[in-house]
Amino acid sequence: MTEQDKSSNVVWHHATVTRNRREAMNQHRGGVFWFTGLSGAGKSTLAHYVEEKLYQKGCHTYVLDGDNVRHGLCADLSFSDEDRKENIRRIGQMSNLYVQAGVIVLTAFISPFRSDRENVRKIAGSDFHEIYCKASLEVCETRDVKGLYKRARAGEIPDFTGISSPYEEPENPELEIDTESHLEECADEVFKYVVKAVDL
Ligand code: ADP
Repeated sequence: MTEQDKSSNVVWHHATVTRNRREAMNQHRGGVFWFTGLSGAGKSTLAHYVEEKLYQKGCHTYVLDGDNVRHGLCADLSFSDEDRKENIRRIGQMSNLYVQAGVIVLTAFISPFRSDRENVRKIAGSDFHEIYCKASLEVCETRDVKGLYKRARAGEIPDFTGISSPYEEPENPELEIDTESHLEECADEVFKYVVKAVDL
């Protein structure tokens, strides 16, 4: 049974407070800024940096971060291919709800599979902006921010992206950032992109 089949008797309720009205009040558009890349590539760092700058300009923002989501909404999911797919599907749906609420959503998930990211693009349409944080495995492994690469190399973490599970690079991301160095420059580049995309 598909997701639609299971909820076929549910009728969509139309709100009077529409996305357009929310965006008019916020004075910026909503959007999903989907940071993807290897663990340690800089997704969270950039997402939070950009959120801080947007907040200071009075924007309505929210960062959805891999670790946090996996403690709650997706706590029942593992890192198998199937569960990773379901993880991204839920986050995609949730991001789209935020966009309907007029919010600028910044997501920091490895999201290693191209097809999963493309499924989110299908949900959010032109509101979806894929931002590829490009850093080599060597650089990410040297950073080893959370000590996970060391543990993965020791065989303690199964299905670890880049080591024992693949990462499929985006083919046509809206933005590709070389995150091997120059953090400030990278952050400013992403910020400029977001400002333009949300008509700030
Ligand atoms: P991820 O969320 O992709 O797992 P993190 O943001 O947690 O990665 O960690 C990235 C690390 O790399 C941080 O310690 C950050 O300071 C550092 N870093 C160095 N250069 C950059 C850059 N250009 N962009 C983003 N992070 C960078």
